[in-house]
Amino acid sequence: MTECTSVASITNEVMSSMKTMPTGKTLFNEPLAKYTSWRVGGPAEQYYRPTDIDDLSVFLRHLASTQSVFWFGGGSNLLIRDGGIGGTVIHLRRSLDQIGLEADGRLYVEAGVACPQVARFCQKNGLSGAGFLVGIPGTMGGALAMNAGAFGGETWPLVSEVELMDRQGNCQWMQSSSISVGYRMVDIPEQHWFVAAKLNLPATTSSDDAMMQELLKRRRLSQPITVPTCGSVFKNPEGGFAAQLIERCGLKGHQIGNAKVSEKHANFIENLGGASASDIELLIDFIQDRVEREHSVRLETEVRIVGEPVSSVK
Ligand SMILES: Cc1cc2nc3c(=O)[nH]c(=O)nc-3n(C[C@H](O)[C@H](O)[C@H](O)COP(=O)(O)OP(=O)(O)OC[C@H]3O[C@@H](n4cnc5c(N)ncnc54)[C@H](O)[C@@H]3O)c2cc1C
Repeated sequence: MTECTSVASITNEVMSSMKTMPTGKTLFNEPLAKYTSWRVGGPAEQYYRPTDIDDLSVFLRHLASTQSVFWFGGGSNLLIRDGGIGGTVIHLRRSLDQIGLEADGRLYVEAGVACPQVARFCQKNGLSGAGFLVGIPGTMGGALAMNAGAFGGETWPLVSEVELMDRQGNCQWMQSSSISVGYRMVDIPEQHWFVAAKLNLPATTSSDDAMMQELLKRRRLSQPITVPTCGSVFKNPEGGFAAQLIERCGLKGHQIGNAKVSEKHANFIENLGGASASDIELLIDFIQDRVEREHSVRLETEVRIVGEPVSSVK
């Protein structure tokens, strides 16, 4: 298991054993559509896939301070505009991939581990409480950033500590109690990102397997899981459901370009094949305007919209 060393505690001995040059994969003008669940999005000006936490730290230390960085997990809650993302995109999925039990029984999980893998690891190791993660297609880092949740479960109640990395590649563990979280909202300091977490999960003798199968079945029945989507596009407004408001406006099946409001679940937008990010964003705007006009509620997006509308990447 990789331990990122807090810079405050770096000794000469540790310094000499640390890597000095990044060893991950760098690509330029890399199309991001292939990494997003919506299958849309322009290129990353620079794309970096680290080999592990220490490597990411080394990479950031070498990166010019003028370069912006964007952290990308599983791409399952992102609408990346067609012009792509300038600066550097750091892709964590399957690169920060360590998961294991600590001596004190807590679960150590790195930010690039997929949520379903966390659920299955817990089930195999007799830990309860993480079963709801089985149907969430993102990474642990994305789940921490979004406070992802489903069927009554949420990420942050499981968290005991998180390890944050800053723009210079320094790491620091923080207690979960010192971080403010809410519904699909987590407040961490600017220019800090998650690299790992320790979860406190109660031991159980009964298996979560049947419960996980049931949750997956409920998803199959109620959500369009076989077509490219980003899950729920909008947050539920206080006291209501976004899907219900959209359906009441008669928008199920409404289409712009190749983006369509799902007939199966009105809070999902399907890419019918060949949709652009701009088709999807226009449809999002259209839904927001119509729902506001008919129900006096402005729906807030759960999906994060990032990047440039038109390519500025040379
Ligand atoms: C079919 C489907 C079903 C879904 N069902 C659910 C559901 O039931 N519940 C739910 O909550 N969500 C659901 N989602 C949405 C999505 O899976 C979650 O929001 C997930 O937590 C996003 O994780 P990700 O790794 O894909 O994040 P990304 O989409 O890669 O990123 C999302 C945001 O998190 C930030 N981020 C990513 N990694 C880090 C990090 N290590 N540190 C700091 N910031 C980071 C990114 O910069 C971005 O702002 C669903 C999506 C799909 C496609």
